[in-house]
Amino acid sequence: MPTPADFAKNATEAKSMGFNAIKFDLDQANDPGKYDRYNWTASPKELDRMVKQIGAAREAVGPDIDICVDMHGRYDTPTGEKVAKLLEPMNLMWLEEPIPAENIDAYKKITDSTSTPICAGENHYLAHGFTKMLSSGAVDIVMPDLQKAGGLGEGQRIANLANLYYVPFAPHMVATFLGAMATAHVCASVPNFMIMEWQIYFHTDPMFKEITIHEGEQVTNSFVKVSDKPGIGVDLNEEAVKKYAAQGYPFFE
Ligand SMILES: [Mg+2]
Repeated sequence: MPTPADFAKNATEAKSMGFNAIKFDLDQANDPGKYDRYNWTASPKELDRMVKQIGAAREAVGPDIDICVDMHGRYDTPTGEKVAKLLEPMNLMWLEEPIPAENIDAYKKITDSTSTPICAGENHYLAHGFTKMLSSGAVDIVMPDLQKAGGLGEGQRIANLANLYYVPFAPHMVATFLGAMATAHVCASVPNFMIMEWQIYFHTDPMFKEITIHEGEQVTNSFVKVSDKPGIGVDLNEEAVKKYAAQGYPFFE
């Protein structure tokens, strides 16, 4: 289990790489302070561990770097309320999925209880999946995953729907560099773009470097440059994809 010092180290590294925001996972099933591995109510020790980890990250990077925190929907509503309240002094960019995605009324209860911005959306689908969440004020920020939520056009519709409620659009993004740049094009085309999730594996994992082809540097100091070429401006390197594909399964042909 990562210690507060690990959180501080990772935060410092990300800052030194030029990133202006960092996201951490707070749900840690192997935390010995949990009531038990399966309990979705956080114990006092577990809450203390969360506060110390994020506190160490905040102290390491100072007040000017944004910090986001994800709980992956693994807790109950009273825990969500407690964590949101306890993390208020850390000035988070957002607290993500403190509870499972389905119950919008429970989200609203947490959002109404705290000054910590509450964020969700990676487990909601199509613009229709966001209508009640937005009209009831259940979240402060939406983060649809455009690979899952309906694609680029639907991503624009979700963003524009959120914009009617003055809610920022911050897409979830766990994909290849092609998926990242496709998402970036949507972000560049909507008025309420806030921030797009980015993956460190683009910079560190040889597979992710090999499987796409693009020209020039596309990220500088946390800002993505979208290509003005036709399409996304990134191609798949099919030979590299075949090299890394699970053997014995058909390729996309
Ligand atoms: Mg998440």
